[in-house]
Amino acid sequence: MTTSAPMNGQIAIVTGASRGIGRSVALALAAAGAEVVVNYARSPEAAEAVVAEISQAGGRAYALCADVATETAVDELVTTVLERSGRIDVLINNAGITRDGLLMRMKTDDWQAVINLNLTGVFFCTRAVTRTMLKQKSGRIINITSVVGLMGNAGQANYAAAKAGVIGLTRSAAKEMASRGITVNAVAPGFIATDMTRDLDAEAILAAIPLGRFGSPEQVAGAVRFLAADPAAAYITGQVLQVDGGMVMA
Ligand code: NAP
Repeated sequence: MTTSAPMNGQIAIVTGASRGIGRSVALALAAAGAEVVVNYARSPEAAEAVVAEISQAGGRAYALCADVATETAVDELVTTVLERSGRIDVLINNAGITRDGLLMRMKTDDWQAVINLNLTGVFFCTRAVTRTMLKQKSGRIINITSVVGLMGNAGQANYAAAKAGVIGLTRSAAKEMASRGITVNAVAPGFIATDMTRDLDAEAILAAIPLGRFGSPEQVAGAVRFLAADPAAAYITGQVLQVDGGMVMA
């Protein structure tokens, strides 16, 4: 790792970093010089593989298991990071799930599971790092929302509600924390090729994407890296950066 890496000496937590977008974000922040906490819930081998990939590239990372939908698990995660690394500079709230179904038939369990992880989990993690960042008088928090939170989607009322909620949370937290040097932004991917989108009907979706293709996890990670690491991004807060091939243009 070169000393000119912009995140040298910084500690970044990436939730849900064992696969997909979170994995690419972890690799990108490590390449920028951060020590990365690779959080996961159920895939220890995949998380350790991300850590190994970062180490092989000369970076620093360790994996920590925590279900970020569980308050006590999040508090333990943050305590462990502070014991091991002593500070927290960047939080990427990325962990997320889908439990799709038409609203009329949606099971309460499916509603609740998605809200619990995709919205309440973001609240738990953000609240848990806030005291440390306020003391440090610096920090960057980036929440992975979705274009679905902006436009709605048939069959995803739970997911769209959670992702729209994340945008409200992002803007409120940005206003609360701006005076203490902490920025809070959201990145809204469109359709990105990961496990989450593997079983979707690609043909129907592609027609709605002006750039005519799914995005890659690396392209989302590029936007996250900009907001987390770039000095110019220090003047950006409360924003939603869309990485969606032009799907939603407001
Ligand atoms: P993915 O490939 O399914 O990966 C999900 C990640 O979240 C995994 O690392 C998984 O860890 C972790 N996770 C699941 N439940 C968790 C929990 N309770 N606690 C901690 N971690 C948990 O998903 P993805 O496509 O990369 O999506 C990442 C984020 O981007 C999500 O917030 C998603 O809503 C958002 N997004 C995705 C797309 C897309 O097209 N893919 C579009 C817009 C937004 P384990 O491996 O341990 O289960």
